[in-house]
Amino acid sequence: MNADPDQLTLHFFPDPILRQVTAPVDPIDQTVADVVARMTEIMRGESGLGLAAPQAGLAWRLFICDIPESATEPFGEPIPGTQGFTDGPIICINPSLVDPSPDRSPYDEGCLSLPGIRGDVIRPEVVTLTATGLDGKSFTIRASGLLARCIQHEYDHLDGVLIIDKMTQMSRLKNRSKLKRLQNS
Ligand SMILES: [Zn+2]
Repeated sequence: MNADPDQLTLHFFPDPILRQVTAPVDPIDQTVADVVARMTEIMRGESGLGLAAPQAGLAWRLFICDIPESATEPFGEPIPGTQGFTDGPIICINPSLVDPSPDRSPYDEGCLSLPGIRGDVIRPEVVTLTATGLDGKSFTIRASGLLARCIQHEYDHLDGVLIIDKMTQMSRLKNRSKLKRLQNS
């Protein structure tokens, strides 16, 4: 894959990179590892819980999620048989999401690429993620709680989908003027 990890910076709405459908990452080589390291740096610098490659300016099917247990309020304990947080960042390359639970709930989401915007997004409470790690090995996580949230939010970025597309009508109205300001900046 072709990228200069040192040049990666956070991209903000309405940058068109955020609307691109991303391409699979292949091969998983040192450049990809360096990109992930830089993405982790950007995410931590902004105190984010996740970051998708398009937010760093790359149309790659890759995201990271970092959900410490201390951040999982108000979700509390994970649903039995699922994982609700991570021990450090998880690296999800060429991910797929399947088997969403019928139970859906709203949660107030923000996005590093949409500063100042927050709103309720309704999503399945449990999902199964299969992805490849930096070691080239495939892994599967059945996720609930804040981890399920983060995974679905970041996964949406890989298809060019943002929280402003999925917010409840009420939240959309609430953010209308802030969004207009971002659009014109
Ligand atoms: Zn986001």
